Amino acid sequence: QVKHKGRDSFTFYTQRFTDAARKKAEMESELHKAIAHNEMQLWYQPQFNLSTEEIIGMEALIRWIHPSKGMIAPDLFIPLAEESGLIVKIGEWVINQSCAQIRHWLNNNISVPRIGINISGAELRQGELVNTLAKALNLHAIPGKYLEVEITENFMMEDMEKAVKIINELKSMGIEVAIDDFGTGYSSLSYLKALPIRRLKIDKSFVADIPNSTHDVAITKAIIAMAHSLGLEVIAEGVETREQQNFLHDNACNFGQGYLFCRPSTAENIECWLSKEE
Ligand code: C2E
Ligand code: MG
Ligand code: MG
Ligand code: MG
Repeated sequence: QVKHKGRDSFTFYTQRFTDAARKKAEMESELHKAIAHNEMQLWYQPQFNLSTEEIIGMEALIRWIHPSKGMIAPDLFIPLAEESGLIVKIGEWVINQSCAQIRHWLNNNISVPRIGINISGAELRQGELVNTLAKALNLHAIPGKYLEVEITENFMMEDMEKAVKIINELKSMGIEVAIDDFGTGYSSLSYLKALPIRRLKIDKSFVADIPNSTHDVAITKAIIAMAHSLGLEVIAEGVETREQQNFLHDNACNFGQGYLFCRPSTAENIECWLSKEE
């Protein structure tokens, strides 16, 4: 009796395991074709100066519009893309699409703020990032000042020397670097002064519970104070309420991004936030 039950639950387990593995393999092969089939879109979310309320930038966020499953969020396929190496191809598409979009807006006399592109550790490790960016800027005749690259702490920590080298190369092209999801990785604070970065993005998990959580309030204040004393700008992500906005503004956070101001959306929908030069 006991033995029998054991075998059943084992069968059940392997069944579930193979289901998951099959789903993953299926998604991976679909992901392979997604770019060629034009299933990827780049959405944008504006970022604002919390004092002047001017738009200072936009983050580019990828969306996969699957022909039968509908929209798939990046958290569901970016990790798979990183694992399989497909992220390099996807990253190239994101870089080229951003530059093509900037070129389109410039051609239509629309003033474009800096666009922030998310870069995975796998893209940085692969070694072609600087090249890919240089080629895309050149192809679309765009100055580097229109781009910012968002990198998470973990890659920086992995190989400081390489990180510094890449950031300096990007800087020489006019591209700024921001640290994304700041506070969630395994950062050693000493790395901050060694990196020639421009900005920290406070992770939305800290922003979510301010001003109610005394811990998150303390952490957020400390990040802002430390960043400013190192000469870095700070942007808060995930700003959803007036209370959060006011708290961040009162505590000298420079910029904010979040559903309160604007949700990520297609280039066409975002265009109304950009001013037209006559
Ligand atoms: P991230 O870079 O930290 O991006 C911020 C995420 O917060 C985005 O999720 C955005 O839609 C979401 N967000 C914005 N405002 C709010 C808010 O007020 N409240 C809440 N709860 N969320 C908000 P999204 O678009 O689902 O992207 C998730 C992650 O996927 C990104 O996190 C980034 O790590 C990755 N990702 C997105 N696009 C790309 C890409 O083109 N390349 C790479 N390598 N990664 C990407
Ligand atoms: Mg980001
Ligand atoms: Mg982030
Ligand atoms: Mg993230």
